[in-house]
Amino acid sequence: MSLASFRHGVHPAEHKDDSAGLPIERMPFVARYVLPLAQHGGKPAVAEVAVGQRVTRGSRIARADGFVSAALHAPVTGTIQALGLRRHPNGSQVPSIEIEADPYDPQSPPGGAAMDPGSLGPDAFVAAVQSGGIVGLGGAAFPAHVKYAVPADRPVHELVVNGCECEPYLTCDHRTMVERAADVVRGVRILARHLGVERSTIAVEANKPDAIAALQGVLRDVLAGDAGIAVVPLAVKYPQGAEKMLLKALSGREVPPGKLPLDLGFVVNNVGTMVALADWFDRRMPLIERVITVAGPGVERPANLVVPLGTPVGEVLDRCGLSRATREVVLGGPMMGQPLASLDAPVLKGTSGILAFTDAEVARPNEYTCLKCGRCLEACANLLNPSRLARLARAGRLDELERAYVMDCMECGACSFACPSHIPIVQLIRAAKSSLRDRKAKG
Ligand code: SF4
Ligand code: SF4
Repeated sequence: MSLASFRHGVHPAEHKDDSAGLPIERMPFVARYVLPLAQHGGKPAVAEVAVGQRVTRGSRIARADGFVSAALHAPVTGTIQALGLRRHPNGSQVPSIEIEADPYDPQSPPGGAAMDPGSLGPDAFVAAVQSGGIVGLGGAAFPAHVKYAVPADRPVHELVVNGCECEPYLTCDHRTMVERAADVVRGVRILARHLGVERSTIAVEANKPDAIAALQGVLRDVLAGDAGIAVVPLAVKYPQGAEKMLLKALSGREVPPGKLPLDLGFVVNNVGTMVALADWFDRRMPLIERVITVAGPGVERPANLVVPLGTPVGEVLDRCGLSRATREVVLGGPMMGQPLASLDAPVLKGTSGILAFTDAEVARPNEYTCLKCGRCLEACANLLNPSRLARLARAGRLDELERAYVMDCMECGACSFACPSHIPIVQLIRAAKSSLRDRKAKG
């Protein structure tokens, strides 16, 4: 049976075998945690603690600044060591809260009596999600409640939960679906009720049969199959997990340029976000930790780890063993992830993986002239013309780039992956988009 997918795309080697079968373990607590206030899309949180103050694990340490923002909570019990500039994974120095963990505290998980999401009206539900600090855990880290504040005139028909995890190496969502299938389904039910949808779909690439079986098992055994939730296997192709590609595969419909899934009646969320909802409403645990994959040829002991937010990347790599041959550490997947300038940078809410690469993967092959072979066009799931965008970007022709829909590029890197001339297409496009944004900001 052929599986649903989208047009174009690429098939990078999966590299998931080293970690896909490894159960999620817990990262031991370390001495120091650094929490940048800019953890998520939108406005950074506002610190509401003072140096020397004792905080307990799960207590709020920063409030959301306006609607498109999320609260921040202490990942450990300890003392506020500093409020100041610290290194963000993107290389910049950003306002942060530093906590010294109490080495004598048992670091018991926070918790309390469950909050019944069904007792909350729509606004109260949205506010509750915001106060839990919950963001989309698929990588973009956009505050989750913003998607849940659906205007009355734009009804949602379907909730789509994204379990594709199409980036090579990453297996944190895979293990979450296998080991916490009941909580994934619980989160889906919480959110589906709020959105008022009768149909929800959990989409999983077909290379995760154990995850599909675990989710189907919960639906069959716990919910007797009548919860209006379907688990749909999709073809294995990159970037299947991109929202627009996911909707194209599931519904056959295109999200037009400049529009959102909501314009077609969909809300799309990641499987990890569903677990975060279940943890918050059922166990009163705000978003203070997340599952990440630590893998790549430079990692001696690959792992799927629950890591408290703010843990320095270097501490995680110490636990997993960093080979001396490592040349580059990337946060996220190899296609869209961010190379790290310093291992002092902390794990953030949006960190899905820590990958270590050696010379063999990092070597930049010589660039050749464009062969006009069209492979980048075949790769682009957004049906853009990447070779033209790269040419215009190199020439700094911003107006023409804008007219060629450069802002629709999701920076998935499929074009660069496909290019036999090794033209750094996505890097050129990324720089051009940044110039366009700067130009717009300056008016
Ligand atoms: S990076 Fe942009 S241009 Fe390249 S394939 Fe992805 S969406 Fe298309
Ligand atoms: S894939 Fe590379 S060589 Fe081929 S048309 Fe695109 S930019 Fe040119």
